[in-house]
Amino acid sequence: MKKMLALMMMMSLMTVSCSKSGGGSSQESAPLSTSTPSIEDGTTSPDSVITPAETSSLPAQALSFKTNVDMLDFTASQEEKYNEAVDIVKKVVATEAFRTKILNHTWSGLKQFADNGGKTNAQIYQSVLDAAESLNKIKNNTMDLGVKMYYASTTVIGWTNPSITYINVNTKYFDQFDPNEVAGNLFHEWLHKLGYGHDSSVTAKRPYSVPYAVGYMIRDLGKNFL
Ligand SMILES: [Zn+2]
Repeated sequence: MKKMLALMMMMSLMTVSCSKSGGGSSQESAPLSTSTPSIEDGTTSPDSVITPAETSSLPAQALSFKTNVDMLDFTASQEEKYNEAVDIVKKVVATEAFRTKILNHTWSGLKQFADNGGKTNAQIYQSVLDAAESLNKIKNNTMDLGVKMYYASTTVIGWTNPSITYINVNTKYFDQFDPNEVAGNLFHEWLHKLGYGHDSSVTAKRPYSVPYAVGYMIRDLGKNFL
């Protein structure tokens, strides 16, 4: 028994000394401070050396997000406005704010979207970055879409259906919209191409569906890029 106790004490002593020599804070920062003499006189704290400058958790896919938008039956001025909207989409997707808004979106008291197809907020964000449209299913990090102009004196801003690769945009609204509003509508319709849906009539939960909620995010954050 005595031998055991002595052994255990020795082992615990060894453990202590081991962690001290290996994990001492002065030892740890030494390799970093050797190349920066200013640390010696205290003008630069070790923290400022270690802390990376303005790092973000934004995935690389958010910054590399591309668009492949085919404009059909556009006039030159319509094309100019639409190009501005497409540019706004790319700029908003590349922001930390867009990521944060999707990850923190709440509906019915929980961090979720309505009609989310069983996906978590993080999975929805990833699906946007993957950009695998239901009709082509390739995760190419690219919004692939056709856009057609039409005019109708209805309250429909735009529409699409699952069997076509393009969206239809009503010039009645397009003509009045600012580019960030066009961007929001474009994104809404494109989210249908990723397979997201919403109630067809006005309901309490419809604004919390993926196409509506994320479309509004693009529109609102897009104001910063007008
Ligand atoms: Zn819709």
